[in-house]
Amino acid sequence: MNLFQSVKENVTTFQAAENYGLDVKRNGMICCPFHDDSTPSMKVDKRYHCFGCGEDGDVINFVQKLFDLSPKKAAQKLAYDFGISYDNSEKYKPDKQSIIKRIETEKYRNAENRVFRAFCDYFHLLKNWRSEFAPKKPEDEPNPLFIESLTKLDYVEHILDVLSTGSAKEKANIIIENAKEVSELERRIAGFKFRAERTVGTGNRCIGDDQIIS
Ligand SMILES: [Zn+2]
Repeated sequence: MNLFQSVKENVTTFQAAENYGLDVKRNGMICCPFHDDSTPSMKVDKRYHCFGCGEDGDVINFVQKLFDLSPKKAAQKLAYDFGISYDNSEKYKPDKQSIIKRIETEKYRNAENRVFRAFCDYFHLLKNWRSEFAPKKPEDEPNPLFIESLTKLDYVEHILDVLSTGSAKEKANIIIENAKEVSELERRIAGFKFRAERTVGTGNRCIGDDQIIS
């Protein structure tokens, strides 16, 4: 596949908008970067269309306009930033700024994955605790893990929901807010892991990801 085909096939305008720091709402609406727009009037999915100024095009047109590049340079930039290979020896030579940006993007993605993974594991532990440690009789002293599941489950579900479907900005807030808590959470989860593995027979995989993401 040539450069233009590869890029259009592998990157949506939605992904490009998020990657380049635009605040993409859950429904794929953003404030149009091409006119003075205070309420989101541009829809981004595979392509983009602005209901305010009429701008319309594919992901390459989008990046071309956003960074004031030629179509070819825009496609090369996308291929580089998203790690897309194509049949052409003439590769994009990124400037230092792009390299730094790419490293930061990767670091950020790793942090995002880490937070998601930790909260996903925690979510399943909490769910198990709610049934496993529920008081058998009304006079039983409630197990602390049962109480924890009562107080934390909704909150953790909310975090996973934002990480799955929130805007880039909402996700970033969650990641920053929970940066410290995640290490502590990972330590605790590791302690429960052996037990969890025996119960559900999984390795690192987070059971029920699909349920949460869908
Ligand atoms: Zn517009």
